[in-house]
Amino acid sequence: MKILLAKDAGYCFGVRDAVNMAYDTANEYDEVYMLGDIVHNETVVRDLAKAGTKVVTSLNNVPKDKPVLFRAHGTDPNVWNDAKEKNLNIIDATCPLVIEIHEEIKKLEAEGRKTIIIGDHGHDEVVAIAAQVSDPIIISNQGEARTLRKMKKAGVVSQSTQMIENVQEIINILMEKVFDLRFINTICFPTRRNHEQIKELATMCDMMIVIGSFTSANSKRLTQLALERNSRSYQVTSVNDLDQSWFKDSDVVGISAGASTPDKNIKEIVEKIKNIGRVTKKEEVYE
Ligand code: SF4
Repeated sequence: MKILLAKDAGYCFGVRDAVNMAYDTANEYDEVYMLGDIVHNETVVRDLAKAGTKVVTSLNNVPKDKPVLFRAHGTDPNVWNDAKEKNLNIIDATCPLVIEIHEEIKKLEAEGRKTIIIGDHGHDEVVAIAAQVSDPIIISNQGEARTLRKMKKAGVVSQSTQMIENVQEIINILMEKVFDLRFINTICFPTRRNHEQIKELATMCDMMIVIGSFTSANSKRLTQLALERNSRSYQVTSVNDLDQSWFKDSDVVGISAGASTPDKNIKEIVEKIKNIGRVTKKEEVYE
């Protein structure tokens, strides 16, 4: 059996930097506070909690002498102001590519456009993008796009981890609804790369394993992309989820992982699959 591991499987640079910042800050101050989990991955959250991170629902629960870390996927400007007024020590882990989305949507609003965000309702990143402008419309699928009324002037951005296919389909519908439409493609490059790799891998391999939490929209999207091209695609969170029978008659196994999946998790699963397939050679990296 041959194993092909997607080169960009796992942490994107934004998540990696934020997790490292959380560890460094916890080391320095014993504790660091966050408004919600740093990533949608239970193992990472558990390990970070052991290192001293605390998840709270309000800035009122952050002690005055402890830092608060603003996560990679962005924070509502009102929360920023609140934290500044409270004189809290803010550790900013916002991904620079998320900051770009905030800037783009503000520019679209300044041009007098109705702002539209293509993204998942309630997702932390989308909530923070929406908070940059007044009263944006959030669209997650074609059905929602179809219910929109006609409008003169609109500007669209997308959540960084959206699938290009979903965005394209929604834009096609919006083209019929909006007279003057401006779309800024804000799907981030790590997401694009990861999606491209899994699309290719899924057609080249006998089966696919996607590693990631079921609470991670990003990991679920990778599984969807793999499944659309290869029916023998499975999402797993740990070695315990692997079923030996999946690997029967598989000469080539492709592996990828969501942007919130830690390296340790990927390594363990690759080793277990090698064990199942009695593979002695190192896995090949697919670029
Ligand atoms: S998915 Fe993209 S935008 Fe989001 S944290 Fe990672 S690199 Fe940044």
